[in-house]
Amino acid sequence: MALLEIRDLRKSYRSPDGTVTAVLDIPAFAVDAGEQVALEGQSGSGKTTLLNIIAGILTPDEGTVHVGDQEIAGLAESQRDLYRANRLGYVFQTFNLLQGYTALENVLLGMMFGVGADRERARSLLAQLGLGDRMDYRPRQLSIGQQQRVALARALVNQPELVLADEPTGNLDRNTARDALTLIQDTCTESGAALLLVSHDPAVLGEFSRCERLSDVNRAAMAQGGAA
Ligand code: ADP
Ligand code: MG
Repeated sequence: MALLEIRDLRKSYRSPDGTVTAVLDIPAFAVDAGEQVALEGQSGSGKTTLLNIIAGILTPDEGTVHVGDQEIAGLAESQRDLYRANRLGYVFQTFNLLQGYTALENVLLGMMFGVGADRERARSLLAQLGLGDRMDYRPRQLSIGQQQRVALARALVNQPELVLADEPTGNLDRNTARDALTLIQDTCTESGAALLLVSHDPAVLGEFSRCERLSDVNRAAMAQGGAA
């Protein structure tokens, strides 16, 4: 059964010179509960825009995004905050960790709107992700790979049904990237969460049994000749 179901989704941006460019035009796209899907797309093809719409951070111009029984595009702001906290885990391209807080605090803050701050649970998840001795470090005191694991812990701590990952290996060297990807896939498998990952890295995309090109589901890309 579909957990995520996108219908007739359209999003355009107004450029600084005033022209309007269609970035997304997706007639239909769905991800089943517990399914792991990779979407391939070059830089500028609309990957982050799509994930931000699914996360309720951006609203589409047209169309619907269902996650389970909830329609995200039409939710009020406060409901979108609750949806994000309770059903969704988002590993941002830039991690978005709060620099003034430790690894543990970043995860705890992520729990406030969700299951509620639970120190033991946050600690055990960080330990599980190999950060047992780094909980009191701030993001700047951590390697990129470690920061990413904090972001992953924050994304997973509320036991989301759907995990979004935006080029999660983009800033990592090959070996760290492989470890990070395995960690994301394994933790989603264990918790039964669906995973939608976007990337342009062939090594990442090859690890998914379902991998689609964004340009194949996005008519806006086809209109631009499949490029961008
Ligand atoms: P990707 O994540 O695949 O690199 P994005 O979703 O970030 O792509 O961006 C898709 C396209 O939309 C790019 O051409 C980008 O320049 C444009 N774009 C993104 N955000 C905005 C914005 N706020 N205003 C205008 N154009 C934008
Ligand atoms: Mg992006």
